[in-house]
Amino acid sequence: MFRRILIANRGEIACRVIRTARRLGIGTVAVHSEADARALHVEMADEAVCIGPPAPAESYLRGDAIIEAALATGAEAIHPGYGFLSENPDFVEAVERAGLVFIGPSAEAIRAMGLKDAAKRLMEEAGVPVVPGWHGDNQDPEHLAGAAEAIGWPVLIKAVAGGGGKGMRRVDRAEDFPAALEAARSEAEKAFGDGRVLIEKFIARPRHIEVQIFGDGRRAVHLFERDCSAQRRHQKVIEEAPAPGMTAEMRDAMGQAAVRAAEAIGYAGAGTVEFIVDASEGLRPDRFWFMEMNTRLQVEHPVTEAVTGIDLVEWQLRVAAGEELPLTQERITLRGHAVEARLYAERPEAGFLPATGRIAHLSFPDDVRIETGVRAGDEISPWYDPMIAKIITHGPNREIALQRMALTLEETEIAGTATNLAFLSRLVGLPAFRAGDLDTAIIDRHLEALVRAAAPTDAEIALAALAAAGLERAAMLADPLLGFHLWQPLVQTVPLLRQEEGKGEERIEVRIATLGPGRHRVEIDGKRLTLEHDAGGWRIDGAKTALRVRRAGGEVAVFGGTNPVFTLPDPLARGDDAEGADGTILAPMPGLVRQIAVAPGARVTRGQRLAVLEAMKMEHSLTAPFDGVVAAVLAEEGVQIEAGAPILVLEEEGEAAA
Ligand code: ADP
Ligand code: ADP
Ligand code: MG
Repeated sequence: MFRRILIANRGEIACRVIRTARRLGIGTVAVHSEADARALHVEMADEAVCIGPPAPAESYLRGDAIIEAALATGAEAIHPGYGFLSENPDFVEAVERAGLVFIGPSAEAIRAMGLKDAAKRLMEEAGVPVVPGWHGDNQDPEHLAGAAEAIGWPVLIKAVAGGGGKGMRRVDRAEDFPAALEAARSEAEKAFGDGRVLIEKFIARPRHIEVQIFGDGRRAVHLFERDCSAQRRHQKVIEEAPAPGMTAEMRDAMGQAAVRAAEAIGYAGAGTVEFIVDASEGLRPDRFWFMEMNTRLQVEHPVTEAVTGIDLVEWQLRVAAGEELPLTQERITLRGHAVEARLYAERPEAGFLPATGRIAHLSFPDDVRIETGVRAGDEISPWYDPMIAKIITHGPNREIALQRMALTLEETEIAGTATNLAFLSRLVGLPAFRAGDLDTAIIDRHLEALVRAAAPTDAEIALAALAAAGLERAAMLADPLLGFHLWQPLVQTVPLLRQEEGKGEERIEVRIATLGPGRHRVEIDGKRLTLEHDAGGWRIDGAKTALRVRRAGGEVAVFGGTNPVFTLPDPLARGDDAEGADGTILAPMPGLVRQIAVAPGARVTRGQRLAVLEAMKMEHSLTAPFDGVVAAVLAEEGVQIEAGAPILVLEEEGEAAA
């Protein structure tokens, strides 16, 4: 076995590979761009090498710099993860020329499967059913239009070099063909530097079902199927194993076809054979066709690990180190059902536009598998894939696995960037999805309902207002015996703003009367609620609720319900608020509380130093925005806090007595 490997990737997959390597006693070297100098994968690895500026072309795609880093650190092998250089045969050859091991298939195997047209030809020869269509060298538009006509509408134009759903267009009528061809070509040219296309029959009621295979160069086994039909823009959102409605007969046929595909190219390592299935009459063994093979570990591999109990990265490392396949086909068994949801920084309501931003707060329940490469304080930058985390749940059957997913999504908290969290919750709850009534259009068909945010409830608005006023932390920290004299009934009006897609901004005014430590009466539009906080969380009008609230910078997010996000009007002007109602001093960024310079009850003057926060290796002084009295200290020295966390509360003199 290797003593040390280098991981030529970033994010969750780099972290995931490091975890297994450590378990096997293998040392790890991370590479990173300048943008990732403080990234989680760098922190987790034993050593790290900076390989260039943020742009992938100048860092993670620089094979030469990566190989140099491996040689310099004494790594014996390179794990490519997925994306980046993972399916680049020239890189594989360069790695081998340098005397290193590439943890993955041979350059020839990658080349054989690299172009969709050549791969289909090869699979036809190996007796694997391929999607009916046309692939060839003649790229003349007239000729392609004729081929489409002969196949019959609708057809799918695909880039032969395609990946990630790029360069793909569905065409329903002859008159739309020329424009679609033009669009597919230019997209493919831009993304892959290769504008060639092929034409496929568009399969009716298509389901994407893929088979995980594993080879050692001599023989191959399959590890059952995954259903990845829940897609947006031809990209996977939720994946599961096994496929709903799968029969033993169909599983056998697909597994054998996939193994045939792998053995036809002497495949070594983890790979996935993707099939498109016509599910218009249920799953039938004569209705699946080869689409493409991904010659790497797939994003959604954890669902297979969950149902087989096999660590696929361990197998990758062992096979790359020269071992035979650890198990024979008969010894690989399927247990229960697993689901993976991809949490993205994106805005589903705006056509799934990728989002960026600093993650101010991130928390997952700890009893499920989470694969992530970020933590609170990290930036989702425009440079890389906006995936934040993969959430994987397992259960004895599909219903329980999905139920656990629903609960996990409810318990997940993320603030600071737009995400698809609420969208995922709605998708998991969609009756058609629950029923296993899947096809690749399921998201598009229900898009309206999936992206429409429900109006926030009064309870959510009330909690958001408390957080906006900095009272949610105070509630948790308040000591009923000591601190209460500082918490005289305090009445304030808190404005919240809510952005609604296509509807503009709504302003909500909430009145809060603080009754005691962690006890508040909240009034919204004439309706009154009593909110109390105790060790178990919040009680609303006496009843315990699963809702949680987080303030992060200028935003407040409520979790556990409809997941609304509110913005606070003009956060910079808060300290100078004419009403003087809100003198909460907030952490402007995540950091360590170095010093609290004042005690409760202290009289301070405008500009006086109140606290010192250490962040990004610098100290930031927080000063009094006005003359006043320190009403409460809410943070402790030596404690790491998040952006937007209240540090102390300042009151104008005389206010407390009012
Ligand atoms: P999967 O079926 O595993 O989702 P995809 O083909 O969609 O496979 O891509 C896998 C991952 O690799 C995705 O996270 C995607 O962002 C990334 N990726 C795909 N193509 C490229 C590329 N050309 N360069 C860098 N990353 C890529
Ligand atoms: P990529 O390399 O971009 O992943 P694929 O060939 O794997 O491209 O196709 C991506 C997705 O497009 C599939 O998961 C499926 O949803 C859809 N798709 C591909 N081929 C067909 C087809 N012939 N008929 C219907 N849908 C298809
Ligand atoms: Mg694909």
